[in-house]
Amino acid sequence: MNSTSIIDLTHPLDPNKITIYPGDPEFTCCPSLTVAKDGFSVHSLSLGTHTGTHIDAPSHSIINGTTIDQVPLDTLVACPAIVVDLTDKKAGSKIIWDDLDKYSSRMKSGTVLLLYTGWSKHWGTPAYLEYPYLDKDAAVKILATGVRIVGLDTLSPDEIDGPEGYGVHEVILGAGGLIVENLTNLKALWELDAKAGKEVLTSIVPLSLTGCDGSPIRAFGWNPSM
Ligand SMILES: [Zn+2]
Repeated sequence: MNSTSIIDLTHPLDPNKITIYPGDPEFTCCPSLTVAKDGFSVHSLSLGTHTGTHIDAPSHSIINGTTIDQVPLDTLVACPAIVVDLTDKKAGSKIIWDDLDKYSSRMKSGTVLLLYTGWSKHWGTPAYLEYPYLDKDAAVKILATGVRIVGLDTLSPDEIDGPEGYGVHEVILGAGGLIVENLTNLKALWELDAKAGKEVLTSIVPLSLTGCDGSPIRAFGWNPSM
């Protein structure tokens, strides 16, 4: 494997180009010490556990749920992935099981299901807040296949202030699953998986934040034969 074959699925953490979930803490990154003045450079970070590309641990929605530091790394590293093309979905529309069913024969325990809507192109703009979202019954059916990790290139699998509340979060996290939000570059992974028919693996690596409900991650994918 060479370095160019790794597909980075992570939005850079850039205070000038970011979408924060309404009500979540702002992201700041400021020089604290500088080489010129102090002899070395150190930045001060301020962010939430759900800033940028990140994982939701079960304790995000579930009382006494698993925290991010308790999620075993072997469930997050080099996992086979399925990339579902949902780029025909419009702003504010619902992703239903009919959209996913044709991929269901590949869904199983240990597989990461990635919902590719293309919404990452709106990152950092108001349009990012009006994304296609996942139907709660579809989430139930995804879990019935054994899949426990669902990733999206949108802000959330649930609609902001929608009538179903945080139903998808509660279904997936309540089953001990994980949700990955604000992914990017899913097109490149989809081209390997669906177009070229090549196996793709993903790693989604959080910080080990004791007792926390999520963490920013570095997410990336690759084809193991390249
Ligand atoms: Zn989150």
